[in-house]
Amino acid sequence: MVKGVTTRSGSPYQVAHSHLITTCATLAALILFVAVGAKVLPGAIGLGTSTPAAPALAVAFLLNIAIILFGWRRANDLTQILSALKAAEQEALDTAYTDHTTGLPNRRAMLRELERLSREGGKGTLILLDLDHFKKVNDLYGHLTGDHLLKSAGDAIVECLPPASFAARLGGDEFAVLIPDRESAEGTARRMVVALGSPISLGSVTAHVSVSAGIAPVDRSMEPLDMLRRADVAMYSVKRSGRNGLAWFDKEMEQQIQHRVALEEEIREGLEADEFVPYFQPLISLDTGELNGFEVLARWRSPRRGVVEPAEFIDVAEQSGQIGALSMRVMEKALVEARDWPSHLKLAVNISPTQFRDAHLAERIVKILAETGFPARRLEVEITENSLLEDREQALTIVQSLRNSGITIALDDFGTGYASLSQLHSLPFDRIKIDRSFIGALSSNEQGAAIVEAITQLGKSLSVPITAEGVETDSVREHLAALGCSDAQGWVFGRAVAGHVASMQFTRPPEPDASPDQQNDSRSAAGRKW
Ligand code: C2E
Ligand code: CA
Ligand code: CA
Repeated sequence: MVKGVTTRSGSPYQVAHSHLITTCATLAALILFVAVGAKVLPGAIGLGTSTPAAPALAVAFLLNIAIILFGWRRANDLTQILSALKAAEQEALDTAYTDHTTGLPNRRAMLRELERLSREGGKGTLILLDLDHFKKVNDLYGHLTGDHLLKSAGDAIVECLPPASFAARLGGDEFAVLIPDRESAEGTARRMVVALGSPISLGSVTAHVSVSAGIAPVDRSMEPLDMLRRADVAMYSVKRSGRNGLAWFDKEMEQQIQHRVALEEEIREGLEADEFVPYFQPLISLDTGELNGFEVLARWRSPRRGVVEPAEFIDVAEQSGQIGALSMRVMEKALVEARDWPSHLKLAVNISPTQFRDAHLAERIVKILAETGFPARRLEVEITENSLLEDREQALTIVQSLRNSGITIALDDFGTGYASLSQLHSLPFDRIKIDRSFIGALSSNEQGAAIVEAITQLGKSLSVPITAEGVETDSVREHLAALGCSDAQGWVFGRAVAGHVASMQFTRPPEPDASPDQQNDSRSAAGRKW
């Protein structure tokens, strides 16, 4: 509609321009009217001597009256069009600065407000709010419910605002609030965290979300984007420390962010230079004491940093979208190295939850198997319960295709995620790995022992082998064996080492009195019991 008015009658500027011309023409006609009238009227009403040109002048005079009437009508029409155009322009402006899902001002409007604050030399406090687990609600109940939730969240935010504040939806599940002072900011943010942390009723559905709030003081010395970035940095620190809370921006956070950005870049360069390599940690059967295979664990051989452990780079690689390339490259190198190891030795590789966003993950893994010539039955893929959180359907489809190719699947870090014991039987896993936090607590803590025992029993009833991670002492190892745990991994058996070191664990020279047959069989050549 707005567009229609504009195209039919031109822009308000054009209309105002033609309005001006019409007004001038009407004025000129009026002047002519007065001049001609002074000549014609006296004759017409018999006040003077009639000139020979009087009839022509009388016609001109009448024409003049017609022009004035026409000009007056036209000016009237133009005035109306002009005000319609102005209203339409205002409406277009409102649309451009409004978020239609929530009815709140949008990101552009917030930037304009921050620019105004910066220009007028004011100061205030910016609160950036990001809903936690919004995506889950969206995926679970659909976009309409998601939009409904955003509207309710927007309303809840507005209800917490002190006077003279400005709230906007920046996009996605992100909102921002500009408060005119410093003192009321934290109280306001806290009210919002409480309001959005309570269950939100959306018709037939009740959504349970929470919010992470970053608070940053802002003043005229900052650019609007810098103001938003500070609040964003503070908000992310809340996300990192478990969500559902608030934090003020401080300089240390800024340094952490800079450090992270630099690390991201270094990882990118490291990937290009092929610096990520596989290390191998032994996986042992508790029943027989034999080596079953190895877990592949990434290490970064950085020329600048030395050998870097995953704790320093996996998170950043995940968040910067580099984990897929990293894990696949490490897997490929591991499969090439271990291809000719004894054929009963399996390799277990780690796949991060974010890798399940890639619908072609299974195909990529199968392609690497084909290219490296590593048998599918010797590969185990370790995934965590969190992999099933984002897009459960897609993750289960990927898991199913991997299993169809002959690859086995282990559920890693069991006990730290969301899956309950009762859910386990419906999930397609070939192995469960108990997280090392439970194993460490085994000897010191009765509850830890009860949990390990329960999981072991469950594994038995589901016929799924259980691996205990993080076994550091012989006493823990014995305790686990007594509880019926089938497999184990940990420092007591060996740490993760480079491939050539790992291979020494099964290629030691055979005993001098071994038979020639035994000497050819690398498995018995290993002969080592752990
Ligand atoms: P994870 O899958 O739980 O791997 C086991 C971790 O426990 C390894 O840490 C291993 O070195 C450590 N560990 C093993 N035995 C013991 C023990 O007795 N005591 C203690 N305290 N720790 C032990 P690491 O190598 O630092 O790897 C950490 C995590 O990084 C892994 O945890 C895995 O989630 C991730 N990761 C490693 N490599 C890759 C990879 O190539 N791709 C992906 N996506 N993730 C990887
Ligand atoms: Ca693992
Ligand atoms: Ca693990």
